[in-house]
Amino acid sequence: MPVEAERKSLNCKGCGAPIDYLAGEATLTCGYCGNTTMLATMGTILPVEKHFLLAPRIDRNGMEAGIRKWMGVGFFKPKDLPEKGVLSPPQGIVLPFWVVACRAYTQWSGQNRRTRTVGSGKHTRTETYYVPASGTFEDNHNWSIYARRGEEWFGIEALNPGAVKTAADWGGFFLNFGLGNETSQGMNLLQGATAFDIKAITEGMSIKNGQINQEQAEQEARGQITRFARATADGKVDTLSDCDTQISVDGTYLVHVPLWLWSYQYETKSFRLLLNGFTGQIIKGEHPVGKYDKLIVLLVVLLLVGGIVAVIVFAMTHRG
Ligand SMILES: [Zn+2]
Repeated sequence: MPVEAERKSLNCKGCGAPIDYLAGEATLTCGYCGNTTMLATMGTILPVEKHFLLAPRIDRNGMEAGIRKWMGVGFFKPKDLPEKGVLSPPQGIVLPFWVVACRAYTQWSGQNRRTRTVGSGKHTRTETYYVPASGTFEDNHNWSIYARRGEEWFGIEALNPGAVKTAADWGGFFLNFGLGNETSQGMNLLQGATAFDIKAITEGMSIKNGQINQEQAEQEARGQITRFARATADGKVDTLSDCDTQISVDGTYLVHVPLWLWSYQYETKSFRLLLNGFTGQIIKGEHPVGKYDKLIVLLVVLLLVGGIVAVIVFAMTHRG
């Protein structure tokens, strides 16, 4: 049995109503007036001035239409997925995120592998050598940090760039090479955000308090952005030796985001989808892979292997 967190209470600075919260929570939203305070270190209580909301505006029918459309596009999805996928009623929730608006400047250096042909006639051989490479790049981010702990939600990592956004389930078919998976470009949670208004939240959706404060969120964002920049730099060079990222934070905002978790059944298996209740966009989705797609991939692999074998046999028999 997990130990239940201690229940605590303080009075709202906006309307005086009691705000009940659990020990460990760091951002508290008053259920009456929507005023939000932050519990910082040493028991200090700070008002959260930059508190925004993406007001829920996509209804169930709108989301369902979006999902059916998503099921019908892209490679590696079964052709009958839009008709045969059986949706279950969704679960809606309004979750707090810290959005860290910042600029990241990265300097990197490393080496690229090159080959050249040396010698002449019968003594021709291929030589490998390395050339130094370096560069810089700058990214503007509205990096989101989930403000809760101990309660994970499917797909929220795909709000930031670099995470898997479309996950193809090959069902144990090992020759998949990660085909059909798509990487997220990130979602800007400040776009379209309005001042937090408790009345704009659809009835039945609960508002969650956050457990991490602004300072912790900025620190976490710095770490994640540094790792993302390193992965980006790694893609630019064969061997990365140095990578340094300087981050300057322009502002940090608390944004409550309406999210809908959907699931659907296809044949005997269940798949999940996470939707943004403001834009209707699919943040992350899982999907099965069509039988024919597996067959095609298998044929391509066999042809390639067959081709390589033929080349080797040809080279061996025609030597000298
Ligand atoms: Zn209040």
